[in-house]
Amino acid sequence: MRDRHYGGYKKSRSGKKGSDQSFDDLLKEMRKGSSSDSDYRERSLKIHGLICAKCGREFTYKNRHLLTVHHKDGNHRNNPPDGSNWENLCVYCHDDEHSRDLLSDYLSDGE
Ligand SMILES: [Zn+2]
Ligand SMILES: [Zn+2]
Repeated sequence: MRDRHYGGYKKSRSGKKGSDQSFDDLLKEMRKGSSSDSDYRERSLKIHGLICAKCGREFTYKNRHLLTVHHKDGNHRNNPPDGSNWENLCVYCHDDEHSRDLLSDYLSDGE
């Protein structure tokens, strides 16, 4: 009856093949989507090193989350593999860099 039908459906869904496929799809989606953001970050850190391009402060793997990637032309989609559009800036210098133009709009909006 209904119970039997539902149970059979469940079995086929939790089969090995099914889970493998969904995991593969998940990986593909991660590579295509959200990971691209951290992907260029990791690459920029590798190319330019764990150091702020502005104040020269050096970072380690422990506090490297304080080091961010700035796009020189302001276009976050312009990510050349040679890193020519990237600049590693600490969060303070990055904030300062944007406070001149872009961030000032954000801040004036709040006041
Ligand atoms: Zn800095
Ligand atoms: Zn920036």
